[in-house]
Amino acid sequence: MSDCLLNSVCSFCGKTETITLYESEQKGQLIWGATYNCPHCLNIQEVDGFGIPPDYIRDYLIEKFGLWQVILKPHYSKKEVVSTLMKGLNLDFKLCLDSIKNTPIFVGTEFEATWLSKKLGGNNAKVEASCNVNYKKYSFIFSNYSRS
Ligand SMILES: [Zn+2]
Repeated sequence: MSDCLLNSVCSFCGKTETITLYESEQKGQLIWGATYNCPHCLNIQEVDGFGIPPDYIRDYLIEKFGLWQVILKPHYSKKEVVSTLMKGLNLDFKLCLDSIKNTPIFVGTEFEATWLSKKLGGNNAKVEASCNVNYKKYSFIFSNYSRS
């Protein structure tokens, strides 16, 4: 689980509230959430969902923890990688075959990259800190993965 705390303006009383952003795993699936907590009017709001978080959450997590990439190792098992992507991310066969042609195969938050790499297995993939890469270009891998 990764989380990030930031301040915002409470939409009810106008004073300073805190927002906790996080990504985690639940039953093998990637989940995300944001909790708005105002100590002045005691308003609490929660937003959450499965898959990759909306950009406003993801951008903060990347700013705070950096951008990370998943790279397939030279002798990765095509069968294992494609099968993991299909099951773990609910992607179709063709999209998986297209995805594994990319280097890196995925770019995103530290949590997302570590989570995906772990799913793919140590013999198949590794995670590295990344710079000068446009992560939005690579996010397509999750595009039809129960985004809510
Ligand atoms: Zn308030």
